[in-house]
Amino acid sequence: MTPTAASAAAEIFRVVEVMHSGFPTAVQGPVGETPRFGKPREFSGSARRRAPYPLDVARLLVIEDDAAISEPLVRALAREGHDVAHVDTGRAALERIAAAPVELVVLDIGLPDVDGVEVCRRVRAEHPSLGILILTARSSELDEVLGLDAGADDYLTKPFSLSVLVARVRALLRRAAPGPDGEREVAGVRVDPGARRAWRGDRELELSPKEFDVLALLIARAGEAVPRDEIMTTVWDENWWGSTKTLDTHVGWLRRKLGDPAVLTTVRGVGFRFESE
Ligand code: CA
Repeated sequence: MTPTAASAAAEIFRVVEVMHSGFPTAVQGPVGETPRFGKPREFSGSARRRAPYPLDVARLLVIEDDAAISEPLVRALAREGHDVAHVDTGRAALERIAAAPVELVVLDIGLPDVDGVEVCRRVRAEHPSLGILILTARSSELDEVLGLDAGADDYLTKPFSLSVLVARVRALLRRAAPGPDGEREVAGVRVDPGARRAWRGDRELELSPKEFDVLALLIARAGEAVPRDEIMTTVWDENWWGSTKTLDTHVGWLRRKLGDPAVLTTVRGVGFRFESE
């Protein structure tokens, strides 16, 4: 057995061990946080450390019908400081996501009611910037997810290592959330709102203040169509009404400075979208 395989096996064993470990006991989470429930001996490796980015408590939803998987999973994610909810059907997941915002879902493909691939597709259609991590038991299911381009950001096949899952979740949240100084990078374009600087790859962009503000706003909402009037009231004047010609001009300049491939899409009748892929 290779060292990697051995550590993966050890991790899976830990999950199994946790699954059979009886009642949870209260343990103290990271400094300043309220106690969370779990067993101290589950703490291992990266899961023990504080998340390496400022986490304004991400809201996660675990969609999994197998309690033997969902319970340790929910505990591991809660230990990372996330606000974790759990549902065990596709229908409950769709209702829950429609009712309250969620930053990321961990979605089992084999659900008892609505097919997980269908859940994935519907969630993606409604929430372009939400992170979706797929759990799948069979490679045929995985083929379906990938082949149908249902919109998942990442996937893990069962059995999976809890620490790998936690790391993947962390990576997806980091991609979506502001960095240490509110920095954000999408599709190779990085903005630093604190320093008011922006780069495409290694090339720094020379932007006017309004161009910067438009770019920062669109990147913060990457994947979503941001309405013209919202951009105008946010970047120009909160009491703005009337023409958005100046916005078109600024977007035109921004596009030229950003270069190819194009990342700013005009959404007819709505506004603009920064392409996240
Ligand atoms: Ca299942």
